Amino acid sequence: MHEVKIVSHYGQPIIVDQCEKCGGIWFDESELFRAKQGEAEKIEVLNTEILRTPSTIENSSLICPRDQTTMHRFTDKYFPQDIVLVRCLSCHGIWINRGTFTKYQQFRQKLMPKKKSSQDERLEKSIAPLIVSYKYECERSNEAQRRDVDIALNILKTILRLFIFKS
Ligand SMILES: [Zn+2]
Repeated sequence: MHEVKIVSHYGQPIIVDQCEKCGGIWFDESELFRAKQGEAEKIEVLNTEILRTPSTIENSSLICPRDQTTMHRFTDKYFPQDIVLVRCLSCHGIWINRGTFTKYQQFRQKLMPKKKSSQDERLEKSIAPLIVSYKYECERSNEAQRRDVDIALNILKTILRLFIFKS
């Protein structure tokens, strides 16, 4: 494994580990969710050579490189089957196969609203720190909790909208 530098949504550096042999990437807790959109292409484009050979990781059980816990494939009703994330339930680290980081970021991009009004942009700037922690919680919590957070966030947005754009 060698260290690769990417940046977060707010431009802070994130150091991830990438395997020279298979091109897979290890993310410590929350690093994957904090990575800025477009970072995947930056580090995965270097591995086009590797991408041509088939990967054997999907079917074997992986052991966490940090604490030797058996890792589990991440599944979710809404999560695409062709994106394989393997998670350590102990340290919350995530292993993804080569090319998957790009697929994952493209998937997240699709979840984002297509076009925002300038009002919404201003609004989101003012609640940006909240949204970051919300997104992080999203990735870690179950569906019911996620829905609750979603509702709370929408209510908050509505209230803020009334305050900020009243005049
Ligand atoms: Zn672990």
